Amino acid sequence: MKNIIPYGRQNITDEDIIAVVETLKSDFLTQGPRIAEFEEAFADYCGSKYAVAVSNGTAALHLCVLALDVKKGDKVITTPITFAASANCVRYCGGEVVFADIDSETYLLDINNVRNLLERSPKGTYKGIIPVDFAGRAVDLEAFRKLANEYDLWIIEDSCHAPGGSFEDSNGEKQICGNGKFAELSIFSFHPVKHIASGEGGMITTDDKDLYEKLLQLRTHGIVKGDEKYQNSIEFAQGVEESQISNLKSQVYPGWYMEMQDLGYNYRITDFQAALGSSQLKRADEGLERRRELASQYYEAFKNSEFIKGQSGEIDGHAYHLYIIEVDDRLGLYNFLREQNIYAQIHYIPCHLMPYYRDRGWKEGDLPYSEEYYKHCISLPMFPTLSNEEQSFVIEKINSFYAGS
Ligand SMILES: *Cc1c(COP(=O)(O)O)cnc(C)c1O
Repeated sequence: MKNIIPYGRQNITDEDIIAVVETLKSDFLTQGPRIAEFEEAFADYCGSKYAVAVSNGTAALHLCVLALDVKKGDKVITTPITFAASANCVRYCGGEVVFADIDSETYLLDINNVRNLLERSPKGTYKGIIPVDFAGRAVDLEAFRKLANEYDLWIIEDSCHAPGGSFEDSNGEKQICGNGKFAELSIFSFHPVKHIASGEGGMITTDDKDLYEKLLQLRTHGIVKGDEKYQNSIEFAQGVEESQISNLKSQVYPGWYMEMQDLGYNYRITDFQAALGSSQLKRADEGLERRRELASQYYEAFKNSEFIKGQSGEIDGHAYHLYIIEVDDRLGLYNFLREQNIYAQIHYIPCHLMPYYRDRGWKEGDLPYSEEYYKHCISLPMFPTLSNEEQSFVIEKINSFYAGS
């Protein structure tokens, strides 16, 4: 193939472009009606009560730990097989990241390892857990919720890989990622490699009204508006002289008034990004269906291949952000595919072995399943516009690499 086949790629249609252009011609570039529309549609899609759109997935994570009041020294558990931001958000607040190993079958944070950590320390040692719906495979949040309740922990579900993904609960009911039923907060990213692209963008979903309001405030500098919320007096707000107070005509806060009550950030998304997000969201199910079709085609192609070390069959609810296989001679395969213009990718270099986290005491051998997984994993091209022809080319090249060795 002449064209490069990446591991993931956005799909922008004429409809998307029209939605963005219309917004650019409107009165609002930011903080306009498209944001609220996107939030509402996304909450609907996940089945949560509230959604807060933000500038990117990392900002979403940061706002979550702020809203949950993570402080210096607070210990939070997450997986090392994730994008660094899942862990880094804890560090933004001075908290301590405690990585727990993955399950070598699902590649997800292993609840048994989390339980072991919790059992080994006095209650209150840990504040929360950040499980990741890695590759699009949903974490069993019902089980994590039960464990979290035992130890009084919060849960932030990092669902960047899994919009539309789901797990089956103990009653056999489908629980959609980010539906607000198990995690305090769930987060999503709209980076172009993710399912829904808005350029940069992110979303937080929740069923908790207090957290929702806190997030809105922190997203815009910690500023609140609304008479019933103000802490300063009306007299102060009106700016009248002390001597005039008794002459006050109106007992209302003036129109310009607002208060910064907390140290927040500017983590807003723009209106035209939200317009793109909403337009993309309309096609999310279609994209998901195609991802599942491609996954099943990969599975059929490789199910009897001896060079593949680990590969799961069809998994209900998997959103297939990534299609990962584990192979021997991963480096050789990666380089060979590059020569064929197939840009497979590795997800992820274990977070705990990044120099930043090594400096904080993590070392090789700490999390053996994650480290072993890293030596073999490779993510094959997986995106809705990948054609069957392109996929067959990828499969053929992988087979030919191992046939020659
Ligand atoms: C992409 C991603 C993020 C960060 O999202 P950005 O929008 O790039 O900031 C966080 N966690 C996971 C698992 C991701 O894949």
